[in-house]
Amino acid sequence: MKPLLPLEDAQRRLIAMAKRLPSETIPVGEASGRYLAKDLVTKRSQPAADMSAMDGYAIAFDDRNGPWELVGECKAGSPPCLPIKKGQTARIFTGALLPDGADTVVMQENVKTDGAIIHLIEDPSPVKSRHVRHAGGDFSSGDIALKAGTKLTAAALGHAVIAGAGTVTVGRCPKIAIVSTGDELVAPGDDTQPHQIPASNDVMITAMLAQLPAQSRSISRIKDDIESLCAALESAQNCDIIVTIGGASVGDHDLVAPAFKKLGGKTDFWKIAMKPGKPLMAGQLGDSLVIALPGNPGSAFVTATLFLLPLIRYLAGAGDYMPVMQSAITNSLLPATHQRAEFLRAKVDSSGITAFDSQDSAKLSVLAAANALLYRPAQSPEQEKGAKVSYIAI
Ligand code: AMP
Ligand code: MG
Repeated sequence: MKPLLPLEDAQRRLIAMAKRLPSETIPVGEASGRYLAKDLVTKRSQPAADMSAMDGYAIAFDDRNGPWELVGECKAGSPPCLPIKKGQTARIFTGALLPDGADTVVMQENVKTDGAIIHLIEDPSPVKSRHVRHAGGDFSSGDIALKAGTKLTAAALGHAVIAGAGTVTVGRCPKIAIVSTGDELVAPGDDTQPHQIPASNDVMITAMLAQLPAQSRSISRIKDDIESLCAALESAQNCDIIVTIGGASVGDHDLVAPAFKKLGGKTDFWKIAMKPGKPLMAGQLGDSLVIALPGNPGSAFVTATLFLLPLIRYLAGAGDYMPVMQSAITNSLLPATHQRAEFLRAKVDSSGITAFDSQDSAKLSVLAAANALLYRPAQSPEQEKGAKVSYIAI
């Protein structure tokens, strides 16, 4: 029997088949979750000039003991007020530019006003530059604000905007067709006969993609016959990725591989040393990459996490596209693994990580209760309770 392909080899081969999609320039307000296709260079310095971080009074540090005569007011959104001289101060508000002659701000809580005369009342005495945000203290014009491959999170988008960007150049969103197959499948919510089940994977995989820059469409519940499958695959060929669900094993009614081959698809790999998810297949059909996920919900979820999601992130331009591994202490003894890497549905919390007793990949009750996939590499020795293990948060 042909040995199974090690997980990391399969992941590498999938990415090696893929090409980053071309970039497009879009308004910042529409770029949430996208990946930068090139470095974002700042067009301005922040702050552009020295400004106050507090509501208070602008003074010269050399004239720090006061009293001062109030000669002006500086507020955010106005050009700097007139310069101050020795013995003078200006009222200043958060975000206002410091007037010439001032280098320090005294908090308003630390002064007493007597008409136009301002007295210092509090110890300690002012510290030079206290409550001043210096020009370029955050970044300077021409700096690289965000590197190519960065995900435009809420905070990254804020940074892009403050750096002067109105548009950003990002990788295009991959177009994805989700083709599910199985004579037993019925639409969500429809009545089922005992020999039927609702097509839960279609909605589940679509929901997984909703977190990513991806345009997906569902071609649901294709019958287990070659003609129907060929027609479904053909109709999906304008997509960057075709994901099939179900029918990926070697049973008489597992027709994804035969249909794929009939249309001239080229298999790159099939059968991975992992549990669940062994029947995963990947290849190319015309310009589309094809990933065939097994139909059991647990297997579909794990293989989508390890293959489909990284592929989408890669195509869309992500620098870090592989799943993030975290670590935790196992709350239970974990048996040794053999040829296959294992991904145990588990619950992680502040006490550690607990793998569920049942790892049946058909059980959605287990998958839905899990918030982590506990990773057990192939050929791992038994792990005692209390050992450090890796997991992927889901
Ligand atoms: P298969 O990979 O086609 O052999 O399917 C394995 C198991 O997953 C079977 O019990 C199928 O009924 C189930 N299954 C296949 N596709 C789906 C789907 N879209 N939603 C829910 N279960 C599915
Ligand atoms: Mg099937």
